[in-house]
Amino acid sequence: MQSATSAYQLDPDDLGALLPGQPAYRAGQLREWLYDHPVLDPEQMTNLPAELRESLRDRLWPFTVEIEQSADDGRTRKWLFRSPDGASIETVLMGYKRRTTLCISSQAGCAMACTFCATGQFGFERHLDAGEIVAQVAYANAALQRNPIAGSPDRVTNVVFMGMGEPLANYKHLRDSLHRMIDIIDMAARSVTVSTVGVVPGIRKLADEPWQVGLAISLHAADDELRNTLIPLNKRYPLSDLIDSARYFFDKTGRRISIEWTMMDGVNDTPEQAEKLAAIARDLRAHINVISLNPTPLTPHRRPGQLAIDEFMAELADHGANATFRETRGQDIDAACGQLRVRSATDKTKGRQ
Ligand code: SAH
Repeated sequence: MQSATSAYQLDPDDLGALLPGQPAYRAGQLREWLYDHPVLDPEQMTNLPAELRESLRDRLWPFTVEIEQSADDGRTRKWLFRSPDGASIETVLMGYKRRTTLCISSQAGCAMACTFCATGQFGFERHLDAGEIVAQVAYANAALQRNPIAGSPDRVTNVVFMGMGEPLANYKHLRDSLHRMIDIIDMAARSVTVSTVGVVPGIRKLADEPWQVGLAISLHAADDELRNTLIPLNKRYPLSDLIDSARYFFDKTGRRISIEWTMMDGVNDTPEQAEKLAAIARDLRAHINVISLNPTPLTPHRRPGQLAIDEFMAELADHGANATFRETRGQDIDAACGQLRVRSATDKTKGRQ
């Protein structure tokens, strides 16, 4: 059961509710601590009186940290957060030379059931609210203050909605979390990317918002016949509708779409798929990001070999598409795309202490 509502779950304009009997300016001070200079522990909120800091002790974050892991020499960090009702929330931080990217979750679990994705195989638990979504960003900023990544910006510069969940299936909370990131934390809209498996009405709604956020479409198959077998949602929103909505997004926002393509051995790595994919990308003037499947315990698919990857990339180039092959991070801590969630759930059923 959710006990008291945490600070991040309150509307940023209603923080006074946590501060009964306090002068009004305290709400403004707290708001700055939450969004501008987040800290892991309310004790660090030095301009608030001691008893107030104490009263915030269990009400600052909407979750506790269950597991914190790092890989790639500390440049990749993963948190498994647990909310009071037991929902798990996974977040991955990646430090690069000029950016620090946070991969966040929009739902606990996911209802989309894509055959290659660990989260999808586990099923849907619940939507995250806007506070739970934005608190992942604030928590990472607070953690970076305490423990920066050497050689990377010490604040989250980029956010990608590529953790657990389908953000456009949780539109209201997605929207409110974007508002807080862009209008309150002051992140550049262009540095926030919403990734979707193809919720067509959501893409159109997002295009109509006032922000120039990025849109990534997880395509993975370039015709309905193949896509129907990998992504159940394709039966509801077939490729032609998805492409129309992507075009609408590009026309409306002026932002180039990214097409995500997870290569699976013998499934979507054929020259025919490459040719069709290239045609879609050219038509949309989109950029293609190709990654290799990250193995998950339940998926029937396998990663392609290097030769297949090279041939596929060459085929895309021959057909005039812009494409980049990307190495993924964090595989050894189950923090790579599509791997979130299953390990902890498996651990739980085994009675991990
Ligand atoms: N639901 C959203 C965001 C979460 S998934 C979406 O589908 O875009 C983030 C990305 O990881 C998507 O491109 C997804 O297709 C990809 N992905 C899922 N499982 C994967 C796996 N096992 N290996 C590699 N990428 C995977």
